This record gives sequence, structure tokens and C-alpha cells, in this order.
Amino acid sequence: AGALVWFRRDLRDHDHAALYHALRSHQRVFCAFVFDTAILDALPSRSDRRVEFIRESLVALDEALRGQGGALIVRHGVAADEIPALAQTLGVATVFTNHDYEPDAIARDTAVAQRLQGMGIGFETFKDQVIFERDEVLTQAGKPFGVFTPYKNAWLRKLNDFYVRSYPVERYRQHLVASPLAQGVPTLEALGFAPTNLASLRMPLGMAGAQSLFDDFLERIEDYKVARDFPAIKGVSYLSTHLRFGTISIRQLARAALQRGNAGAETWLSELVWRDFYQQILFHHPHVISHAWKAEYDDIVWETGPAADALLLAWCEARTGYPIVDAAMRQLNQTGYMHNRLRMVTASFLTKDLGIHWLRGERYFAQHLNDYDLAANNGGWQWAASTGCDAQPYFRIFNPVSQSERFDPQGKFIRRYLPELAQVPDKYLHAPWTLGALELSRLAPDYPPPIVDHAEAREMTLARFKRPS
Ligand code: FAD
Repeated sequence: AGALVWFRRDLRDHDHAALYHALRSHQRVFCAFVFDTAILDALPSRSDRRVEFIRESLVALDEALRGQGGALIVRHGVAADEIPALAQTLGVATVFTNHDYEPDAIARDTAVAQRLQGMGIGFETFKDQVIFERDEVLTQAGKPFGVFTPYKNAWLRKLNDFYVRSYPVERYRQHLVASPLAQGVPTLEALGFAPTNLASLRMPLGMAGAQSLFDDFLERIEDYKVARDFPAIKGVSYLSTHLRFGTISIRQLARAALQRGNAGAETWLSELVWRDFYQQILFHHPHVISHAWKAEYDDIVWETGPAADALLLAWCEARTGYPIVDAAMRQLNQTGYMHNRLRMVTASFLTKDLGIHWLRGERYFAQHLNDYDLAANNGGWQWAASTGCDAQPYFRIFNPVSQSERFDPQGKFIRRYLPELAQVPDKYLHAPWTLGALELSRLAPDYPPPIVDHAEAREMTLARFKRPS
């Protein structure tokens, strides 16, 4: 009997744990992906770059599998129903898949395992999307880490060649088989979705796209330590969406960073460690999804009501009057990407300048980020809101104007996304209101005045956090 490999956030045909183990132990291996209506139906819009990104990745994966004698079976339905039904139809002995640490995914996989068991079919799962998972990196007392630096040190101590070695899928590819059920990848329309502007963003797609982004980044990795903080510069890897959907392997990236070994590569490896860190936080503390990691911060009184709703809307729609915040929100709205420095600045602005609950910003990012990942996004938001583990202390409040002056000194990023500020001289670009109302209405008639005063907001935030709970 054969095996079925169920692809989820690992859309590639190489260095793939589940695929490797299935091929090594079975002579006939089928491959499948499910457009899970349990996930798709919850998306806020019927035009979603992530759905298009996944579809493009599947087209490339199907093509690659076909070149090796296999093919991808693509279903559209509730995955927890589709996978057991498909396994039965194909008559396989075992379903292979890779771990996913999100609570909903764990619940789904538990349901699938039970159903398969009832049918006498095995379910084997593997670590694939992180270097270290779950309980692999613990404190000396055997507890999960809640602070990054000691976690990172323990992570680095544990690391050796074994953990970054590639799974040699190619050795067994003759075991791939194509089922007549593999009928190509459905169109977006067939899935009930409309095209997005993804093509116009010229984002390299699929496995080949991920590889080309990585090749390009390796040319610049040495500069990463410094260049990573400036959104107007091409300083980062832009691999996050590919990492999210597994069109490139984390082991390949970590291996390359280790081999380079320069300061830039070391800093970049640290970012990959943050990725593992937040995954294990989510796994051990799933309550962070809707609660502050630090329980006492669940009692913070955030701004609510119509005035707060209006502020939130202005933030979403890039109308705060703070150019760095608005340019960043435009980048998110127009492309689905936002530079890391700006994620910190905009998240800080929403929570500390507007006093709005981090969960509301987290949800907006979740809806709009191409690379949206529950663990990383939740971790990032709780960090910025000071409610998280190892978070920014609440009294260290980003000043959006100084952040702008420091990280976009020539205003290049601001000008790219806010053409309505084209006439504003560089000197005033970070805080256009300092031009005076008259001058501002002459030079940038369409740009709003600031929706809050930072100094006042800062005091209110300090009070909000100090209030005994
Ligand atoms: P690079 O700088 O090239 O980093 C390489 C990779 O490391 C990234 O692709 C990512 O996988 C990982 N990484 C980098 N920084 C972090 C981090 N702080 N936490 C976890 N992983 C990290 N990242 C996401 O992948 N998805 C999210 O939904 C997400 N939401 C965020 C929300 C907020 C408020 C903040 C402050 C950060 C968030 N991040 C998120 C982390 C980070 O901003 C992005 O991973 C990064 O900007 C992606 O660009 P890049 O691939 O060029 O990153």
C-alpha cells in the first residue's frame, strides 16, 4: 500500500521532512493539498493575495512533481473531511504531514488522526518548518523559555550540522506516483476568489522565486546588520511570505547563514531564531492569542467607543498625519508587506499613541499581511504593546517623529508612498504640521493634521500602564 503526503505550509518538492519520510518508506507516494474552506471562509475578502500566492506556489509544485513522475491532487473543502476521504479512496496505508503549531491546526490534525485511525490508516507527522520545535530548547529546569536571549543562546548551543541537514528527497523520487485524481490546480475563480494586484507587485513566486530572492539576498547579507533598519533601502531578505508557505526550506537558510558567518549573517540567523522562539511561545502558551502574555496586562484599560473607532480607522486608512506611520500603512495596504522597523513603529503608534488594544491592530495585520503568521504577528504585537514576553518595556515609547528622522533620514520611503507630500521640504517631512497650518494647506492640501499629540499621548500611556491592576 502507498502513502499520501499532505502539503500545508511546506509548498516545495525538496528538503521536505514528510515527503522524504513517505518516499523512503513507501513505493507509491501520492501528494495532496486542500484549499481548506474552514480557513478560506473566514477570510475578510474574496480577493486575497495569500490565496493567489498559494495557488501560484501549487502550480509550480504540481509542475515539479509531474517532472518526477508524481502530481499534486488539489481539493477544495474542509480539510479534516477531505484528507481522510482521499486517503481511503487512494487506499493508502499512511498519511504523512509536517507539524503546524497553531491551536486550530493542532485541533484539525487531532481530528484527522482520529478519523484515519478509525479507518485503519496511519498518520505520521514531522518537524519541518522550524529548526527547533516544542520542547527541543528548554531551560536547565526543563521549562520553556520566555526570554529571547537565553533562548537564543541555548538554541545556538544545541545547533549542529544534523539540524540543518537537507532531507534528500531526490534519492527516492522514483516512488512518486500520479493519480488520475490529480487534475491540476483550480483557478482562483473556481475557488470563489478574484485576482489581486499580486502580479503587478513583481514578487518572485513559487520555489524558483524564493530561491532567486535568497540568491539576491546572499549578495547583500553582509550588510544586513546595518541596512535592515532602513525601509527605503533594500536591506532585508523579503523571504517572509515564502517562509510562511514553505516554498523555501528553513534548513537551507540557516545553513547558508551559518556558512557565511559574518556579522550580517549572524544577525539574520538571530531573526530566524526569533521565528522559532515565537512558534514555541505559541505552542506552550496558546492563551497569548487573545490574552496578554503577562496576565496583569490583561487589565489595561484601552480606549474604546466611537472616538477610538475613528482613530483606528484613520490608522488603517493611513490618515494619522504622521508621515512615517501613514507611509507604512500605505505600504501594507498596497502591497501586503511592511518593513519590520515600520511594523514596530505602527504597532507602537496604535497602542501607545492612540491607546487602542493591540488585538485590534493584530487583527488588521492578520488580514492584510502576505506573510501573516499567527505566532510571529502575535509576538510582534505583544512586543510593541509591552504586554508580551520579553517585550519592549512600557515606558520606552517610540516617538514617531524621531523614528522617522532616524530610519528614513532623507524621507525617501515617505515620499515613495505619500506623493501628496511631494512639495513639503525635507526638513518638515517628518512632522509636516511644523510648517504651520497655512503653509501646510498650501503645500500639502490633501494631507491631514496629526490625529494626536505625541507628548500628551505618551503621558496617557504611562498612566494607563501604571494604573494598579
Ligand atoms: P528578514 O529581516 O529578512 O528576516 C528573515 C526572516 O526571519 C523573516 O522572513 C521571518 O521569517 C523571520 N523574522 C524576522 N523577524 C522576525 C520576528 N521579529 N519574529 C519572527 N520572525 C521573524 N513576521 C512574519 O513572518 N509574519 C507576521 O505576521 C509578522 N508580524 C509582525 C508584526 C509586528 C507588529 C512586528 C513588529 C513584526 C512582525 N513580523 C512578522 C516580524 C518581521 O517584521 C517580519 O518577519 C519581517 O519584516 C519580514 O521581512 P523579511 O522576510 O525581509 O525579513
